[in-house]
Amino acid sequence: MSTKTTIPPTVFVIFGGTGDLNARKLTPALYNLFLDGWLPAQFAIIGTGRSKLTDEEFRTNLLADVNQFSRSGKAKKEAWDKFAPHINYQVADVKAPEAYEEFGQRIAGFEKEWNAPANVIYYLAVAPEFFPIIATGVAKSHAGTDPARVRIVIEKPFGHDLESARALNQLLAEHYEERQIYRIDHYLGKETVQNIMAFRFANAIMEPLWNRNTIEHVQISVTEQLGVGERTGYYDGSGALRDMIQNHLLQLLCLVAMEPPVNFTADEVRNRKVDVLRAMRRFTPEMVRESAVRGQYGPGWIEGKQVPGYREEKDANPTSSTETFAAVKFFVDNWRWQGVPFYLRTGKRLHRSASIITIQFKDVPHVIFPAETVEGWRKNRLVISIQPEMSIRLQVQAKRPGLDMMLNTVDMVFDYQGTYTNETPEAYETLLLDTMLGDQTLFMRGDQVEEAWDLVMPILTSWQNRPSLSFPNYSADSWGPEVAEALVARDGFHWFTLPLNGKK
Ligand code: NAP
Repeated sequence: MSTKTTIPPTVFVIFGGTGDLNARKLTPALYNLFLDGWLPAQFAIIGTGRSKLTDEEFRTNLLADVNQFSRSGKAKKEAWDKFAPHINYQVADVKAPEAYEEFGQRIAGFEKEWNAPANVIYYLAVAPEFFPIIATGVAKSHAGTDPARVRIVIEKPFGHDLESARALNQLLAEHYEERQIYRIDHYLGKETVQNIMAFRFANAIMEPLWNRNTIEHVQISVTEQLGVGERTGYYDGSGALRDMIQNHLLQLLCLVAMEPPVNFTADEVRNRKVDVLRAMRRFTPEMVRESAVRGQYGPGWIEGKQVPGYREEKDANPTSSTETFAAVKFFVDNWRWQGVPFYLRTGKRLHRSASIITIQFKDVPHVIFPAETVEGWRKNRLVISIQPEMSIRLQVQAKRPGLDMMLNTVDMVFDYQGTYTNETPEAYETLLLDTMLGDQTLFMRGDQVEEAWDLVMPILTSWQNRPSLSFPNYSADSWGPEVAEALVARDGFHWFTLPLNGKK
């Protein structure tokens, strides 16, 4: 959420420097920030891992990653040659206490060279089991440093359940102030997601409509065509509810449902978001049965290619009861949203990859047109498409051109590609820049994470205690299990999908 401000001298330490996240997201994001002129001259990256690499070898590996994954395409030699000297590598086992002393020495070296104190950002792109040991090691090595100059970025997943999230928060709180902790939910860095707040709070026409008087229900749907692939090891202990709903989808819900913050500062925005989570109706076991459904994909065909079912994926447990699909009906018990259902669904191996928020408005109180003119009649809808299409569409009724009176639905479209010519930054660019600028607006505060876990725990517990007998219950390339259709159909609705290319 940055406006062009100067970043102070900064050292960016990446734990997991040799890992997948750094290769695909972090270094390409830092490189693009460099190209766009955001990074200061006094800037150093220290990548770490146990792999034995020299600075030069590490740079060569990262160049290949940038060439493959950067939104700006293959790196131009001249630009890369300027960027590469900022990259350093240090062999380190995070379990070894001396590793943190070695970082300290390198950081001190940069400060001496720059003749200025540096802000230090530690990015934990490693398995969650290492979060506590790194957080403790870093804190000890910075015992005398001004807290304003040390930040720690924690990747997803933040905890496995409420208890573990609380324990991690407690450990972090022993060593850091909340203003030093950046809990990543990369969805919050996406352009279209940031735009939800602009759309809601910078336009006077929205607020009077944005409540139970005019809105019938809300859908938040994040569907993926990909399966788990080779990530079964991680995914089998997680599942769709933990992996997607507890964090990304509930964060989207918060942005849709939050009250206007007093101002656009990190704490005000995060206060209003946590209010939403606190107001959400807690589940009884009975409600879990009625309002939460799950699925697991079986084999099928996607775009002419045969794909395995979840239980047949590489290294999968052939009797796994992990859900690869989840759909849940939530309620927000406050004045604005009383009685308005929020349906959230997510799943893998579905027909198409798309992230869409649909605000379904109520119908007009009385239809004045004869039945034969309103064949294509649809209640107004606002569709916020996050990916792959980046757009906001308002669906309204209009008269079709012609001598007769025929109504149909048309889209008023705000399309990023048609409106803006500048390239959209990747979510990680926004988020990494914000860590350097010290802006926490797009990061999760500890209490937000715990409220979100608290909300989903009854569903997790109930599903764990009652493994599904019907898995697999949807085939690849479908829109999920029938129970998910039934969840919304019982209330008279159906799941909304955006037509390809947005065309109707
Ligand atoms: P990964 O490819 O398996 O990389 C793990 C990294 O940890 C490697 O760099 C490895 O380096 C390092 N490592 C392991 N044990 C170590 C030790 N004892 N000491 C020092 N370094 C050690 O994992 P990843 O996919 O990058 O994921 C990293 C984190 O980001 C995870 O928490 C994951 O949930 C999260 N995340 C990843 C993605 C993604 O797209 N990949 C997306 C969202 C969140 P060496 O082998 O060289 O030691």
